[in-house]
Amino acid sequence: MPDDIAGYCAHCGNLFLHGEGETLCRKCRVELDDSVTLIYDAVDLHGCKTPESIAEATGIPAERVRELIRENQLLRNTIDLSEPCRRCGEASAQTGSEFCLDCRAELNLALGDALQHAMTSLQAHQLSERQKDAAAEIAEKFRRRRERRRARGLDPSPHNRWSR
Ligand SMILES: [Zn+2]
Ligand SMILES: [Zn+2]
Repeated sequence: MPDDIAGYCAHCGNLFLHGEGETLCRKCRVELDDSVTLIYDAVDLHGCKTPESIAEATGIPAERVRELIRENQLLRNTIDLSEPCRRCGEASAQTGSEFCLDCRAELNLALGDALQHAMTSLQAHQLSERQKDAAAEIAEKFRRRRERRRARGLDPSPHNRWSR
């Protein structure tokens, strides 16, 4: 029977008496067990494969799900902690890629198209930057015109600059 030692809970920071090797207080231990059980259920019963889908199924924040998976050997072996695929969001992206294996294969097949698409969206992006500038210019012009009007006392609001 190991001696109980007083220490701080690694999760909530409360002082508690713990046996050897224990880092969590009773409350956090129970909460952890509950969360891990929920995650197991999400994986087993709902076929969740990513922290995001588990978060959705369990209601546990995705960041906390990632944390729990990192701390749990078995979950770590089951669930890939890499970011979800940027294309389908269903599977997790391959190491060193933004896409899952399936999407990468498809994209490789359509490499010509993908390149074309990338160029087009790049041009569209530049265009929209220019359009944004133009919009800002118009807004600025409008603001100045309104200020001039107000200075001439044409502002219909009772609180124009002369009454203050
Ligand atoms: Zn605690
Ligand atoms: Zn994908």
